[in-house]
Amino acid sequence: MMTAALGQQSDLAQIKQRFVEHYCAEGYAHIPGSSLLDPSVPMSYVMSAGLVQVETSATLHGGRTGTRYTLVQNCFRYFDMAKVGHSAMHLSLFQMPGAFTFGPANRTIAIARIWQLLIDGYGFSPDSLWATFFAGGAATGHHFEPDWETQRAWIEVGMVPEHIVGLEAEHNFWKQGASVVGDTQAPKCGPNTEVFFDRGTQLSCGPTCAPGCTCGRFVEFLNTLFITMHIDGIIEPLAEPFTETVVGAERVAMLLQGAASIYEIDTVHPLMAMVREAAGTVPPLVQDGSIHERVIVDHIRALLFLTADGAPRPGKGGRARLMRKLIRELLTSMRLLRIADMALVHNLANTVAVLETNPHLPAYVDKVCDYIAAEKTIFDRTVRAGMRKLEAMLEEGDIPNFNGADMVKMEKQHGVPRALVEIALRQKRVRFDPETYQKAYRQWSQSLAGEN
Ligand SMILES: [Zn+2]
Repeated sequence: MMTAALGQQSDLAQIKQRFVEHYCAEGYAHIPGSSLLDPSVPMSYVMSAGLVQVETSATLHGGRTGTRYTLVQNCFRYFDMAKVGHSAMHLSLFQMPGAFTFGPANRTIAIARIWQLLIDGYGFSPDSLWATFFAGGAATGHHFEPDWETQRAWIEVGMVPEHIVGLEAEHNFWKQGASVVGDTQAPKCGPNTEVFFDRGTQLSCGPTCAPGCTCGRFVEFLNTLFITMHIDGIIEPLAEPFTETVVGAERVAMLLQGAASIYEIDTVHPLMAMVREAAGTVPPLVQDGSIHERVIVDHIRALLFLTADGAPRPGKGGRARLMRKLIRELLTSMRLLRIADMALVHNLANTVAVLETNPHLPAYVDKVCDYIAAEKTIFDRTVRAGMRKLEAMLEEGDIPNFNGADMVKMEKQHGVPRALVEIALRQKRVRFDPETYQKAYRQWSQSLAGEN
């Protein structure tokens, strides 16, 4: 049965479903995604990529009954948290439909399947798509030939030949560390190929603009890994090679829906509207309020998904610390937008539960709101005490300057976010030099590393 391509009217749920249906039709078994706190992920971490747990259950625990799986995995990226708000493309919590194939890599078949999904399933125009392949060279201390087979496979399916770009190892060679609990094997590796959407030459940064450029013209949204080797001093073929293809569902939604940012897709823009409405016409305490609108929206999504998967209440260490960080950033952004009414948090969490097709979420709305309310009490107290320290520091110093080390002290010792300190300083007409901050922060990080 032929189903029409999705195109511009598609919502996130359809995008996830279409991926799974496409691979099921090719004989892939549909399995549920794992918890963000899956036991295969080390205790202090959270699931950050698509298919780690499939690999674990299949290759480590002997749980495999087939060779092909498809699933939608929720992912949370701690290391992307700093980009949230500033980038139009990043959410800390996103959904990743994936397909996992055990056996020797067959690039021709894998790429033909992807192309069919993108053109016939999602309705992308072939002219809008670009792909990268590994151009060969040094990787993990060894020398590799270019991955011509991948290049040829893209040409064969009909991608515009000029749109197929060879890149170095930094972009197109994958090395998987031992990220999985119990995995004692040497790091697995292999070349990968990524698909980019061209948002148009009007966004181009110049004549050399190409996939891999960070100007925003090219959006990466699909990655296929051909994991065929492992490295233990020497390179050896992997006994169980595999191919995995993943897409960022929210990014596909952004591209198909023609949204200018990932914060404007169907499951996110109603949340943005709610934050804007709550902020009203009160001017924010910072210049770019939109960054903080995004932080609030991003973090409430992440917090609800994490709570539903059993994340602990905020506290010290590991996942509790992550919850604390998310909640305090959310509360700080609310302060900066001068939103005092905590009803917003409940309304947002409720709306996330309605917008996302995840039957587990609604039951956790109250719990996440309780976490946030309890943490707010502690945080408010911390900020009040910290601000008193700040007053004392300024009186003691009797200088119109506040240096980086002072700022790090406020943040790390007294628990007051930098943005709030900066506002207090501005109100008191005390100068702060951000240059000195970077250096002081590095010194602080190094002193921590020295202690451990
Ligand atoms: Zn560019």
